[in-house]
Amino acid sequence: MFSLRSSLGAVARKGLFAKQIISHNRGFGTTLAARVNSLHSLSEDEQMMKDMVARFARETVQPLVSKMDEEEQMDPSIIKGLFEAGLMGVETPVDMGGAEASFTSAIVVIEELAKIDPSVSVLCDVHNTLVNTVFRTYGNKEIQEKYLPQLAADKLGCFCLSEAASGSDAFALQTKAVKDGDHYVINGSKMWITNSAEADVFLVFANVDPSKGYKGITCFVVERDMGVAIAKKEKKLGIRASSTCQLSFDDVRVPASNVLGEVGKGYKIAIEILNEGRIGIAAQMLGIAQGAFDVAMPYLFQRKQFGSFIGDFQAMQHQYAQIAVDIEAARLLTYNAARLKEEGKPFVKEAAMAKLYASQVAERASSKAVEWMGGVGFTREVPAEKFYRDCKIGAIYEGTSNIQLQTIAKILSKEYKD
Ligand SMILES: Cc1cc2nc3c(=O)[nH]c(=O)nc-3n(C[C@H](O)[C@H](O)[C@H](O)COP(=O)(O)OP(=O)(O)OC[C@H]3O[C@@H](n4cnc5c(N)ncnc54)[C@H](O)[C@@H]3O)c2cc1C
Repeated sequence: MFSLRSSLGAVARKGLFAKQIISHNRGFGTTLAARVNSLHSLSEDEQMMKDMVARFARETVQPLVSKMDEEEQMDPSIIKGLFEAGLMGVETPVDMGGAEASFTSAIVVIEELAKIDPSVSVLCDVHNTLVNTVFRTYGNKEIQEKYLPQLAADKLGCFCLSEAASGSDAFALQTKAVKDGDHYVINGSKMWITNSAEADVFLVFANVDPSKGYKGITCFVVERDMGVAIAKKEKKLGIRASSTCQLSFDDVRVPASNVLGEVGKGYKIAIEILNEGRIGIAAQMLGIAQGAFDVAMPYLFQRKQFGSFIGDFQAMQHQYAQIAVDIEAARLLTYNAARLKEEGKPFVKEAAMAKLYASQVAERASSKAVEWMGGVGFTREVPAEKFYRDCKIGAIYEGTSNIQLQTIAKILSKEYKD
């Protein structure tokens, strides 16, 4: 099994990832050389992470992509490999078993994995940018010390917000938690939960006082063996190796000490975490666009029609030039949103723009990749059709495209009204 863990661990132990973030942040305020860096500039450590993940994706993931898609099942060796490679605690502090790398490192990891398999990418994305980040940002010391090392070592996490009747309107959720001594008893059901078939740790949003509306929503850490039941595994159009399940909670008793953050503040956690999580989905979509492009482009210079490479026809040249521009723009939006977040600057509008645009580019690029490869592109012999199926989810999860537009418009109208 390919292993990045030892080298990432060595770098992290030396504190190089952490130092890089500090010097990056300082650079923005101080030297001209730092300020004029392009958005393509990755630190040495981020570049190292990118190269290693690309190798992991090629050597460990690629051979299993088609089988996992056909079987609609994540191969357990992939999840094990991600943990062993140190990719499941990208931002987790070194003393809790993580790599303590930058947010941009996580974004680059998600992008690189999506170039090969968007299902593996979203597994890693949800675990890192949603689950680990909630623990790191809102967990008290005891909760962090208990769960972050497990989540970096071998326990997969999932984020349980959506329900049958509450999707875009997430705070209309019906799952309830009732206090009973030093426990809460959770009853209800969740829908569409990524990673839930394989997960051990469930972040569950439930309402402790529906009379308070969304201000009753509370985030609980629930372990699988506390009684989480998988009610149904969805069969999907794309990202078929990524598990998406309905869950039921039937009198699930959770210690009161497993409330993450404050009682009644779960809505704030959900909003804030999804605002930044969207940059992760933008990175996944960017990876899909680039992956589809990289599959199709060589074919254009192998296939001849009318005595010429099909890539030399002007009509084709204009199309791939345009898609290359689109991918470049999506990458800049995504990296810029990530850097804004790292610098502690407002990033919500930019994150929504990046997710919206990257998902549109992923659709355009993968659709063109299928067309450019003609009949071959329409078969499962090449992964172009898979990227085409996998990209559609980008317009749906972590806020649909309409919801991204609504977020962007809300911020713009405030900017111009004030
Ligand atoms: C594969 C997959 C994985 C997922 N993983 C997770 C997960 O891990 N955790 C989790 O909690 N959830 C997850 N989700 C749920 C996902 O976030 C929701 O599906 C999404 O938020 C949309 O909700 P909905 O499906 O109920 O659609 P709806 O909210 O019913 O939307 C349907 C349509 O109506 C439009 N619409 C709704 N409200 C408005 C409005 N105010 N203005 C304009 N248009 C509107 C939408 O844009 C959309 O086009 C996942 C979903 C899928 C499909």
